[in-house]
Amino acid sequence: ERTVSISGSGSVSTDSERTPVRVDSQDSQVSDGEPGDSRWPRQNSLSMREWDIPYDELKIGEPIGTGRFGTVYRGNWHGDVAIKVLNMDYYLDDDKTLEAFKLEVATFRKTRHENLVLFMGACMKPPRLAIVTSMSKGMTLYTHIHLRKDKFNMNKTTIIAQQISQGMGYLHARGIVHKDLKSKNIFLENGKVVITDFGLFSVTKLCYGNRKGNGLSIPPGWLCYLAPEIVRRLRPQQNRDQEELPFTDASDVYAFGTVWYELLCGEWPFKGQPPEAIIWQVGKGMKQTLANLQASRDVKDILMLCWSYHAENRPDFAKLLTTLDKLPRKRLARSPSHPIHLSRSAES
Ligand code: ADP
Ligand code: MG
Repeated sequence: ERTVSISGSGSVSTDSERTPVRVDSQDSQVSDGEPGDSRWPRQNSLSMREWDIPYDELKIGEPIGTGRFGTVYRGNWHGDVAIKVLNMDYYLDDDKTLEAFKLEVATFRKTRHENLVLFMGACMKPPRLAIVTSMSKGMTLYTHIHLRKDKFNMNKTTIIAQQISQGMGYLHARGIVHKDLKSKNIFLENGKVVITDFGLFSVTKLCYGNRKGNGLSIPPGWLCYLAPEIVRRLRPQQNRDQEELPFTDASDVYAFGTVWYELLCGEWPFKGQPPEAIIWQVGKGMKQTLANLQASRDVKDILMLCWSYHAENRPDFAKLLTTLDKLPRKRLARSPSHPIHLSRSAES
């Protein structure tokens, strides 16, 4: 039997390559009390304890909002936090899914980057499943663009895109596919981009809200982030026996293209069109026309490359960063030779 262990440093290894593990007497006192559970050897539950937050320690405040996976609450755990409590239903006794979830969450705590939300821990005692992150003080790009109708000039648009690319490049280097990159998951805090909800998409397998009804349930504003290879795999009833949607680094880049479009145009691509029409067009390789977009060739090229029908033709985030760097800027009068950091504008 191959079991998977998570070491204290967060690296994941399989039994076959693992060196013998020393469990000292102190550790053995704090086992999770699940005797005979061979799938989760003792040292796993021990190392998970570092970021496994007891549900009772969380002070849950008022709800902020509800998304596909559950409800986000304002909360307190050694300071202000955001607590995403997942909708749980009948998959809750599905140990396999729960284990997959635990493994996935284990990768989040390895993330340390300025442009990624701070993952503080998870609370994983079914039926209580919650993700605890730092509280974002700013507004999402969605709120800026679609609700407040804020317009970003080309300099600011470029800086935002660069910071998104930095954060996403880091995630990909860590082997994490975001799977749900969208303007609602990008916060702007004093001009600094903070990306949230990376990798969480897979937990929809655990969620109830998604499974009601017989139709193809498509949350508004989701479709336009999905790459053709994903759109072509959408089915009316996505259940757990079906294969998962084929999210990849390249499908994240497609989603980035859509965010770039939102920043430039102040609206979503395929605006006002019914889902069926969008699915048909994207699945066939058609793109939102850029005829009405007043922007340079370079700026439009980024859109067209990110939206490439074939995943292998899309640039990676490292390439995107180089391209974004080369976009002509209106120089700021004071420090022409320095790169512009929104978050540092108070300094120097
Ligand atoms: P969605 O991303 O589709 O808006 P979520 O469930 O992720 O749905 O979020 C629900 C609400 O909680 C949204 O209004 C979102 O902006 C807010 N939210 C999510 N994470 C945080 C966070 N870390 N800090 C502050 N607000 C958050
Ligand atoms: Mg979100």
